[in-house]
Amino acid sequence: MALICIIEDEQVIANAVASRLRGEGFEVEIAHDGLEGVALCERVRPDLIVLDRMLPGLDGLEVCRRVQASRPVPVLMLTALDAEEDMLVGLGVGADDYLTKPFSARELVARIRVLLRRVELRPPAPEGPRAVGGVELDGTTRRVRIDGDEVHLTPTEFDLLALFVARPGAVLSRDHLIAEVRGWKGDSSGHRTVDSHIRGLRAKVGAERIRTVHGIGYAFEA
Ligand code: CA
Repeated sequence: MALICIIEDEQVIANAVASRLRGEGFEVEIAHDGLEGVALCERVRPDLIVLDRMLPGLDGLEVCRRVQASRPVPVLMLTALDAEEDMLVGLGVGADDYLTKPFSARELVARIRVLLRRVELRPPAPEGPRAVGGVELDGTTRRVRIDGDEVHLTPTEFDLLALFVARPGAVLSRDHLIAEVRGWKGDSSGHRTVDSHIRGLRAKVGAERIRTVHGIGYAFEA
């Protein structure tokens, strides 16, 4: 049974989401502000986090950074803002998906199941360690070292990097990346989503390692 942490300061929403998820058979823990949320995740090590973007104390983006820094875990971000830019920033700091409030409980459960299924289906490409151009990636332990230093990637960032490392120098289209990293929708907003995850990945592995091929996608420079 998967354990889900809900980090949401609006108690009505937190309780409604919690009771729906419990009804679906998930174990659920709730935190009502950012710091409490980070501490809760460190303590209970959830399988997935439902994270509100706007929180008192630490905001959702900072919570996402801190949680992902200690352990990669799928994050579904909730945002009250319908600003695409805001969602893309969220994806860039390591959220795997987002929902705009108000959202339906059914949609939330569907998104959660997709994210959890992606985790179950891993690891995708490489098994065991692989080293290309200063990047060491182990598909079994899902650990990554860049020039010898361990870096913490989100699950989505790890999957993207694994695709790149498997085919150094090859140009991988956005559509290919969407198809390979399961659960992404193959529409035009999917392209923006890829770009956001690539931005997050570049910040961690070095921007020079991932080259933009304009109008097509990206290539890994070994
Ligand atoms: Ca809030």
